[in-house]
Amino acid sequence: YMTVGAEDAADDGTTPDLSVPETAESFAFEAEVSKMLDIVVNSLYQNKDVFLRELISNASDALDKIRFLSLTEPDYLKDEEKLHVQIEYDSEQNTLTIRDTGIGMTHDELVSNLGTVARSGTTKFMQALKAGSSDGESSGDISQIGQFGVGFYSAFLVSDRIQVASKHLDSDTQYVWSSTNGSSEFQIYEDPRGKTLPRGTEITLFLKEDCIEYADEYKISQLAKHYSEFVTHPIYLKTKTT
Ligand code: ADP
Ligand code: MG
Repeated sequence: YMTVGAEDAADDGTTPDLSVPETAESFAFEAEVSKMLDIVVNSLYQNKDVFLRELISNASDALDKIRFLSLTEPDYLKDEEKLHVQIEYDSEQNTLTIRDTGIGMTHDELVSNLGTVARSGTTKFMQALKAGSSDGESSGDISQIGQFGVGFYSAFLVSDRIQVASKHLDSDTQYVWSSTNGSSEFQIYEDPRGKTLPRGTEITLFLKEDCIEYADEYKISQLAKHYSEFVTHPIYLKTKTT
Protein backbone atom coordinates (compact mmCIF):
# COMPACT_ATOMS: atom_id res chain seq x y z
CA TYR A 1 0.00 0.00 0.00
CA MET A 2 1.43 3.28 -1.02
CA THR A 3 0.08 6.75 -1.32
CA VAL A 4 2.23 9.51 -2.62
CA GLY A 5 0.13 12.47 -3.40
CA ALA A 6 -0.71 16.04 -2.65
CA GLU A 7 -2.52 16.62 0.59
CA ASP A 8 -5.48 18.92 0.93
CA ALA A 9 -5.03 19.44 4.67
CA ALA A 10 -4.18 22.91 5.88
CA ASP A 11 -0.54 23.85 6.17
CA ASP A 12 0.88 23.26 9.66
CA GLY A 13 2.73 26.54 9.35
CA THR A 14 5.90 25.18 10.85
CA THR A 15 8.89 27.18 9.74
CA PRO A 16 12.34 25.86 10.46
CA ASP A 17 14.13 28.00 12.99
CA LEU A 18 17.85 28.35 12.49
CA SER A 19 18.77 29.81 15.84
CA VAL A 20 19.90 27.60 18.70
CA PRO A 21 18.98 29.15 22.07
CA GLU A 22 21.88 29.96 24.41
CA THR A 23 20.32 27.76 27.04
CA ALA A 24 20.58 24.68 24.81
CA GLU A 25 22.33 21.64 26.27
CA SER A 26 25.31 20.32 24.30
CA PHE A 27 26.23 16.65 24.00
CA ALA A 28 29.16 14.95 22.32
CA PHE A 29 28.38 12.12 19.93
CA GLU A 30 29.47 8.74 21.25
CA ALA A 31 33.05 8.10 20.04
CA GLU A 32 32.30 5.38 17.48
CA VAL A 33 29.30 7.31 16.15
CA SER A 34 31.55 10.33 15.75
CA LYS A 35 34.13 8.30 13.77
CA MET A 36 31.45 6.83 11.57
CA LEU A 37 29.96 10.27 10.90
CA ASP A 38 33.39 11.49 9.79
CA ILE A 39 33.63 8.68 7.26
CA VAL A 40 30.10 9.13 5.95
CA VAL A 41 30.39 12.90 5.69
CA ASN A 42 33.76 12.84 3.95
CA SER A 43 32.99 10.02 1.57
CA LEU A 44 32.70 10.58 -2.13
CA TYR A 45 29.76 8.24 -2.17
CA GLN A 46 27.42 9.18 -4.97
CA ASN A 47 24.14 7.42 -4.21
CA LYS A 48 22.91 9.92 -1.65
CA ASP A 49 19.25 9.11 -2.32
CA VAL A 50 19.36 6.46 0.39
CA PHE A 51 18.90 9.08 3.11
CA LEU A 52 15.23 9.35 2.15
CA ARG A 53 14.74 5.60 2.40
CA GLU A 54 16.21 5.69 5.93
CA LEU A 55 14.10 8.63 7.11
CA ILE A 56 10.90 7.14 5.64
CA SER A 57 11.72 3.83 7.27
CA ASN A 58 12.24 5.50 10.68
CA ALA A 59 8.96 7.40 10.31
CA SER A 60 7.22 4.15 9.40
CA ASP A 61 8.72 2.35 12.45
CA ALA A 62 7.52 5.18 14.72
CA LEU A 63 4.02 4.94 13.21
CA ASP A 64 4.00 1.16 13.65
CA LYS A 65 4.82 1.65 17.34
CA ILE A 66 1.94 4.00 18.06
CA ARG A 67 -0.42 1.89 15.96
CA PHE A 68 0.50 -1.18 17.98
CA LEU A 69 0.04 0.62 21.32
CA SER A 70 -3.29 2.06 20.23
CA LEU A 71 -4.72 -1.41 19.67
CA THR A 72 -5.02 -1.87 23.42
CA GLU A 73 -5.24 1.83 24.31
CA PRO A 74 -7.19 3.74 21.61
CA ASP A 75 -6.87 6.87 23.75
CA TYR A 76 -3.23 7.16 22.71
CA LEU A 77 -4.39 8.55 19.39
CA LYS A 78 -6.43 11.35 20.92
CA ASP A 79 -3.94 14.10 20.00
CA GLU A 80 -3.81 13.01 16.38
CA GLU A 81 -5.73 10.17 14.86
CA LYS A 82 -4.12 10.18 11.45
CA LEU A 83 -1.05 8.00 11.07
CA HIS A 84 0.95 9.36 8.19
CA VAL A 85 4.18 10.77 6.84
CA GLN A 86 4.39 14.21 5.30
CA ILE A 87 7.27 15.29 3.14
CA GLU A 88 7.64 18.96 2.49
CA TYR A 89 10.25 20.86 0.56
CA ASP A 90 11.08 24.51 0.33
CA SER A 91 13.06 25.39 -2.75
CA GLU A 92 13.71 28.92 -1.50
CA GLN A 93 15.23 27.93 1.83
CA ASN A 94 16.58 24.67 0.37
CA THR A 95 15.10 22.58 3.11
CA LEU A 96 13.45 19.22 3.08
CA THR A 97 11.16 18.17 5.93
CA ILE A 98 9.97 14.68 6.82
CA ARG A 99 7.23 14.68 9.43
CA ASP A 100 5.44 11.75 11.02
CA THR A 101 2.62 11.32 13.52
CA GLY A 102 4.37 8.36 15.11
CA ILE A 103 5.26 7.78 18.73
CA GLY A 104 7.81 10.60 18.89
CA MET A 105 10.87 10.91 21.13
CA THR A 106 11.21 12.29 24.65
CA HIS A 107 14.08 14.60 25.61
CA ASP A 108 16.11 11.61 26.85
CA GLU A 109 15.34 9.53 23.77
CA LEU A 110 16.55 12.32 21.49
CA VAL A 111 19.80 12.38 23.46
CA SER A 112 20.38 8.64 23.54
CA ASN A 113 18.86 7.43 20.26
CA LEU A 114 20.40 10.17 18.14
CA GLY A 115 23.83 10.40 19.59
CA THR A 116 25.15 9.41 22.98
CA VAL A 117 24.41 5.72 23.16
CA ALA A 118 26.71 3.37 21.29
CA ARG A 119 24.87 1.38 18.67
CA SER A 120 26.23 -2.08 18.17
CA GLY A 121 26.21 -1.81 14.39
CA THR A 122 28.42 1.28 14.19
CA THR A 123 31.78 -0.48 14.28
CA LYS A 124 30.55 -3.28 12.02
CA PHE A 125 29.35 -0.72 9.52
CA MET A 126 32.77 0.97 9.45
CA GLN A 127 34.42 -2.42 8.96
CA ALA A 128 32.05 -3.23 6.10
CA LEU A 129 32.83 0.13 4.48
CA LYS A 130 36.56 -0.55 4.71
CA ALA A 131 36.22 -4.07 3.34
CA GLY A 132 34.11 -2.78 0.46
CA SER A 133 36.51 -0.04 -0.59
CA SER A 134 39.11 -0.58 -3.27
CA ASP A 135 42.02 1.13 -1.47
CA GLY A 136 41.02 0.44 2.12
CA GLU A 137 40.72 4.17 2.66
CA SER A 138 37.78 5.50 0.71
CA SER A 139 34.36 4.33 1.76
CA GLY A 140 32.50 1.42 0.28
CA ASP A 141 28.78 0.98 -0.04
CA ILE A 142 27.13 3.47 2.30
CA SER A 143 23.67 2.38 1.14
CA GLN A 144 23.89 -0.59 3.55
CA ILE A 145 23.83 1.86 6.48
CA GLY A 146 20.28 0.95 7.52
CA GLN A 147 21.19 -2.69 8.05
CA PHE A 148 23.67 -1.62 10.74
CA GLY A 149 21.13 0.35 12.76
CA VAL A 150 22.57 3.79 12.08
CA GLY A 151 20.47 4.82 9.08
CA PHE A 152 19.46 8.16 10.57
CA TYR A 153 22.98 9.52 10.12
CA SER A 154 22.77 9.08 6.34
CA ALA A 155 20.86 12.39 6.42
CA PHE A 156 24.29 14.03 6.78
CA LEU A 157 25.08 12.91 3.23
CA VAL A 158 22.87 15.73 2.00
CA SER A 159 22.64 18.20 4.90
CA ASP A 160 24.70 21.05 6.29
CA ARG A 161 22.54 20.93 9.35
CA ILE A 162 19.78 18.67 10.69
CA GLN A 163 17.04 19.73 13.04
CA VAL A 164 14.80 17.11 14.65
CA ALA A 165 11.75 18.33 16.53
CA SER A 166 9.84 15.69 18.42
CA LYS A 167 6.85 15.41 20.73
CA HIS A 168 6.50 12.04 22.39
CA LEU A 169 3.15 10.49 23.19
CA ASP A 170 3.86 10.74 26.94
CA SER A 171 5.42 14.21 27.00
CA ASP A 172 3.79 17.63 26.96
CA THR A 173 6.92 19.31 25.68
CA GLN A 174 8.34 19.37 22.19
CA TYR A 175 12.14 19.19 22.07
CA VAL A 176 14.63 19.88 19.32
CA TRP A 177 17.81 17.99 18.49
CA SER A 178 20.10 19.97 16.26
CA SER A 179 23.51 19.29 14.77
CA THR A 180 25.77 20.83 12.17
CA ASN A 181 27.53 18.64 9.64
CA GLY A 182 31.13 18.03 10.67
CA SER A 183 30.59 18.88 14.31
CA SER A 184 31.20 16.24 16.99
CA GLU A 185 28.37 17.67 19.04
CA PHE A 186 24.64 18.16 19.01
CA GLN A 187 22.32 20.47 20.92
CA ILE A 188 19.04 19.76 22.68
CA TYR A 189 16.51 22.42 23.66
CA GLU A 190 12.84 23.01 24.16
CA ASP A 191 11.36 24.02 20.81
CA PRO A 192 11.23 27.84 20.70
CA ARG A 193 8.22 27.54 18.41
CA GLY A 194 6.32 25.80 21.20
CA LYS A 195 4.36 22.68 20.53
CA THR A 196 3.78 22.59 16.78
CA LEU A 197 3.38 18.83 16.47
CA PRO A 198 0.30 17.02 17.78
CA ARG A 199 2.62 14.04 18.27
CA GLY A 200 5.55 12.60 16.41
CA THR A 201 8.73 13.79 14.78
CA GLU A 202 9.70 16.42 12.25
CA ILE A 203 13.11 16.21 10.63
CA THR A 204 14.29 19.28 8.75
CA LEU A 205 17.30 18.95 6.49
CA PHE A 206 19.15 22.13 5.55
CA LEU A 207 20.44 20.86 2.25
CA LYS A 208 24.06 21.16 1.20
CA GLU A 209 24.65 23.45 -1.73
CA ASP A 210 25.31 20.51 -4.07
CA CYS A 211 22.17 18.71 -2.89
CA ILE A 212 19.48 21.30 -3.54
CA GLU A 213 18.15 18.96 -6.25
CA TYR A 214 16.24 17.27 -3.40
CA ALA A 215 14.12 20.37 -2.80
CA ASP A 216 12.21 19.54 -5.94
CA GLU A 217 8.77 18.05 -6.41
CA TYR A 218 9.59 15.66 -9.21
CA LYS A 219 12.76 14.34 -7.60
CA ILE A 220 11.14 13.84 -4.20
CA SER A 221 7.93 12.30 -5.50
CA GLN A 222 9.92 9.78 -7.56
CA LEU A 223 12.13 8.85 -4.63
CA ALA A 224 9.25 8.70 -2.16
CA LYS A 225 7.32 6.38 -4.48
CA HIS A 226 10.35 4.19 -4.85
CA TYR A 227 11.08 3.95 -1.14
CA SER A 228 7.49 3.61 0.08
CA GLU A 229 6.99 0.22 -1.50
CA PHE A 230 6.94 -1.61 1.84
CA VAL A 231 5.49 1.21 3.91
CA THR A 232 1.93 0.62 5.09
CA HIS A 233 1.25 4.25 6.02
CA PRO A 234 0.28 7.01 3.59
CA ILE A 235 3.01 9.41 2.53
CA TYR A 236 1.97 12.89 1.46
CA LEU A 237 4.08 15.33 -0.43
CA LYS A 238 3.51 19.00 0.29
CA THR A 239 4.81 22.05 -1.43
CA LYS A 240 5.73 24.84 0.89
CA THR A 241 4.19 28.11 -0.18
CA THR A 242 6.30 30.88 1.23
P1 ADP B 1 17.36 2.08 13.48
O1 ADP B 1 16.16 2.62 12.76
O2 ADP B 1 17.92 0.90 12.76
O3 ADP B 1 17.13 1.82 14.94
P2 ADP B 1 18.40 4.71 12.98
O4 ADP B 1 19.79 5.28 12.99
O5 ADP B 1 17.69 4.81 11.68
O6 ADP B 1 18.53 3.20 13.43
O7 ADP B 1 17.52 5.40 14.10
C1 ADP B 1 18.00 5.43 15.44
C2 ADP B 1 16.87 5.50 16.44
O8 ADP B 1 16.36 6.83 16.51
C3 ADP B 1 15.67 4.63 16.16
O9 ADP B 1 15.84 3.31 16.64
C4 ADP B 1 14.56 5.37 16.92
O10 ADP B 1 14.60 5.02 18.29
C5 ADP B 1 14.98 6.81 16.80
N1 ADP B 1 14.27 7.49 15.69
C6 ADP B 1 14.78 7.86 14.50
N2 ADP B 1 13.84 8.45 13.73
C7 ADP B 1 12.69 8.46 14.47
C8 ADP B 1 11.35 8.93 14.24
N3 ADP B 1 10.98 9.50 13.09
N4 ADP B 1 10.46 8.78 15.25
C9 ADP B 1 10.80 8.22 16.44
N5 ADP B 1 12.03 7.73 16.71
C10 ADP B 1 12.98 7.85 15.73
MG1 MG C 1 16.32 3.35 10.84
